[in-house]
Amino acid sequence: MVGQFPGSFLPYGRQIIDDDDIATVAAVLRSDWLTTGPAVERFEADVCAFTGARHGVAVSNGTAALHATMFALDIGPGDEVIVSPMTFAATANCVLYQGGTPVFADVDPATLLLDPLSAEAAITPHTKAIIGVDYAGQPCDWDALRAIANRRGLALVADACHALGAEYKGRKVGTLADITVFSFHPVKHITTGEGGMCMTDNATLAEKMRHFRSHGITTTAGQREKAGGWFYEMTDLGYNYRITDIQCALGSSQLKKLPAWIKKRNALARAYDAAFAGTSIKPLVQRDDCLHAYHLYVVRTPERNAVFKRLRENGIGANVHYIPVHLHPYYREKLGMKEGMCPVAEKAYGEILTLPLWAGMDNQAIKRVCSVLLEAL
Ligand SMILES: *Cc1c(COP(=O)(O)O)cnc(C)c1O
Repeated sequence: MVGQFPGSFLPYGRQIIDDDDIATVAAVLRSDWLTTGPAVERFEADVCAFTGARHGVAVSNGTAALHATMFALDIGPGDEVIVSPMTFAATANCVLYQGGTPVFADVDPATLLLDPLSAEAAITPHTKAIIGVDYAGQPCDWDALRAIANRRGLALVADACHALGAEYKGRKVGTLADITVFSFHPVKHITTGEGGMCMTDNATLAEKMRHFRSHGITTTAGQREKAGGWFYEMTDLGYNYRITDIQCALGSSQLKKLPAWIKKRNALARAYDAAFAGTSIKPLVQRDDCLHAYHLYVVRTPERNAVFKRLRENGIGANVHYIPVHLHPYYREKLGMKEGMCPVAEKAYGEILTLPLWAGMDNQAIKRVCSVLLEAL
């Protein structure tokens, strides 16, 4: 098969690109608009229709989407934003981009999702927002987080880069926070190569984020062409965080396959669960009021390092998600963070292991992973 990894290496995640995806992208390459064109608006509308969110602002990657979110919420120097440490560094970095201060609250030991009690305890008079991370693809306890945010007058942000297609109590991820962020990196559920999107029901926030992704200027090239004028003004310090039509066409094509891929990921996760029943390998707890999107399949084992080594020696791309963000040298050295600040996340970090999971895997591959893993114990 074209594009397979060398040998029989099994990555922890990867994209699926079919001929119809390629044809869709090729059509854009022959069209008039390569960026800021109709395929961008179509992809935004498609993700809105899928999630039920009113507005979607597509940007160049998930990190840019997080940055735009912090800008739209007016996060600045002196403001604190409560963040989960069990995430990719970008979730907290976006607060720093705006000059704000990330404050880490701890996670629930069963799910590694932001613990609402710990988040509430971290609130100070400077707190402006809470960012929950739908870790591994499972939604946070959004009802509890919403209640806290409303009671304390805070904005609520979902870093749902793991959770496109997930549902919480029958509601789609994308509508549960004031702003929800998705990433379309190739290891995520659907890909645009690089890409991200901010979802919101709030027209003012959406407008601010559109503005931010294109230099903070008042009109787009398309709008100026239609109006027949040349005038524009820069009113905010924005960036070039635009995404191309080439990428968005791929995104729309991929999105059609997402429901089947989520089903497949869940079926593969159940096959892993069955293989680990009665062993010392403990999958993270799945809440029964949610549809898990299974970006990652994560287990805990006290023998993580030995097992990890054995898997890698056998060509299996096991991984560890994540080093708690507050323990990265940058956070320790520049922000004075240290061990002991989030004991639940820190203990989990010593035991968690991500096993390969993507929609193109088959049961044979799951069996291969399980037999190496169970033998290593
Ligand atoms: C992937 C990811 C991001 C960043 O997305 P990019 O598109 O790679 O910039 C942010 N947060 C989480 C939780 C992610 O998994």
